[in-house]
Amino acid sequence: AHAFGHCLIHNAPNPYYCPSLWWWVDGKGDSCNSFGLGPAGHHERNNKYNKITTKNKKQFTIFLAGLRLLYNTVYHWLMASSHSSQCSHIQINPVQITCRYTYEVAPVFVLMEDVVLRKLRSLVGWSEGDGIFCPGGSVSNMYAMNVARYWAFPQVKTQGLWTVPRLAVFTSQESHYSMKKSAAFLGIGTENVYHVKVDESGRMIPEDLEAKIVHAKSQGAVPFFVNATAGTTVQGAFDPLDRIADISERNGIWMHVDAAWGGSVVFSKKHKHLIAGMERANSCTWNPHKMLMAGLQCSVFLMRDTTNLLMHCHCANATYLFQQDKFYDMSLDTGDKSIQCGRKVDCLKLWLMWKAIGAQGLANRVDIELKKREGFQVVSEPQFVNVCFWFIPPSLRGKENSPDYQEKLAKVAPVIKERMVKKGSMMVGYQPLDGRVNFFRMVILSPQLNHSDLDFFLDEVERLGNDL
Ligand SMILES: *Cc1c(COP(=O)(O)O)cnc(C)c1O
Repeated sequence: AHAFGHCLIHNAPNPYYCPSLWWWVDGKGDSCNSFGLGPAGHHERNNKYNKITTKNKKQFTIFLAGLRLLYNTVYHWLMASSHSSQCSHIQINPVQITCRYTYEVAPVFVLMEDVVLRKLRSLVGWSEGDGIFCPGGSVSNMYAMNVARYWAFPQVKTQGLWTVPRLAVFTSQESHYSMKKSAAFLGIGTENVYHVKVDESGRMIPEDLEAKIVHAKSQGAVPFFVNATAGTTVQGAFDPLDRIADISERNGIWMHVDAAWGGSVVFSKKHKHLIAGMERANSCTWNPHKMLMAGLQCSVFLMRDTTNLLMHCHCANATYLFQQDKFYDMSLDTGDKSIQCGRKVDCLKLWLMWKAIGAQGLANRVDIELKKREGFQVVSEPQFVNVCFWFIPPSLRGKENSPDYQEKLAKVAPVIKERMVKKGSMMVGYQPLDGRVNFFRMVILSPQLNHSDLDFFLDEVERLGNDL
């Protein structure tokens, strides 16, 4: 059995002969203290396990496989559910059958989510605020757009779209396509998403943002939402957040940062400067399931708001769950902040990882150095772990000025890709972008990768493409 702080993975046979992860709460049970994320690399082995008595078993909540909840009103429901989650090794998935809409149903996870969100917010630079774990970054972005619209036009929740003017969203040309999807889903309309120009590295040009805002207003639209991207999906570009915050503040527009990909740089002393200014935003999206490699899905929507906007925007006050005359603090019933009813316990994945490898371990997943070589031409100087490059086969080297150079270069990446997949040696994506012909996008992410893997990658591209 391994112990991380106060939790213990226990292998003793339970009714389903599954290992289970035991958790207990110090004191009276409502304290968050024992959920704290502790100092970096905190691996303290817990010896309290031996002292468990029947009396303090009441304060146990058992989770992971073999769910046996001793202190919970939906005990038998969880027992029934656990039949389908039998497994022979420890994994995170079975716990996700637990709903976490109210404190009484999932006390451990409500407190755990609170602690993890608080910690993430403090890394962004917010001592207060709100947030929620969402099923993916696209959904986190959609939350942002919906909350921003509610903030600007609260009547939209009760009276619907006909009470609001035509709204305008601003995001860069290279931002994630979930902005478009959100605008479609929320009834804002994809044509009301204004795509702001980017520089050659893929960063939003603030002057063009200002121009687009003026343009939208002249067309009778009401600008309400600016999305800045911290770590664009293809080039790994970081928009200039401070400049965008100035413009958003001046225009009274909600500023969101889609840091789904790049947010994890907050763990890294070396790379944190990339998101300077993020603390000035109203909200952000961050996917620990990307760079930190938490299991899918693990995405957070974080807010600077302290007025309970998230709850007001989404609550439906179902009386069968969210009774107002409960015996405990009802602010612990966070489930109504969600647009879902039952919701997976995604915070556990990050919490457990954080406990296991510590903040330094998470930082190590971010600080990986890049490598370059002759014959490979970068599309733009890498700002992040995205390395976008063309492989120039010998037949094209030095022919940059010939009229069919671009046309020929465009065909190189698809052929190399086809060959590598059919051979089964590796897999890497390619794409054209904004007038630039097909190039490879290598994302160097796994801490298990070493120099020899990267050498293999470069050698293999050469082997597969040298005759082109
Ligand atoms: C991956 C990504 C998203 C979408 O996240 P999902 O969890 O896949 O929905 C949004 N924005 C950016 C910048 C991304 O890189």
